[in-house]
Amino acid sequence: MSEVMGLKAKLGLDVFKEDNEFHIKIKEGQAKDVRLKKAILVCPAGLYSETENGEVVISVDGCLECGTCLLACGTELLEWQYPSGGSGVQFRFG
Ligand code: SF4
Repeated sequence: MSEVMGLKAKLGLDVFKEDNEFHIKIKEGQAKDVRLKKAILVCPAGLYSETENGEVVISVDGCLECGTCLLACGTELLEWQYPSGGSGVQFRFG
């Protein structure tokens, strides 16, 4: 019988190469916009969080480049682009 891997274990197999600058940014002045909280709910890698003062922040290390946060929040709130060539995620499983 095969062993079932959890999501965190699967994500741990991927490799991430840092880019020179963040490929996703919360637009200036938008960190407290309540619509941005959707990103906390939809990001499969759990990279968005809310600080004590109600700002949404992102840590792009571990980004799967799926674009779900952009679809949920839109270009009004996020600057989103793929990392430059050779940077970003390398999928190792599935
Ligand atoms: S692109 Fe996907 S993995 Fe990356 S921050 Fe957005 S929702 Fe999360």
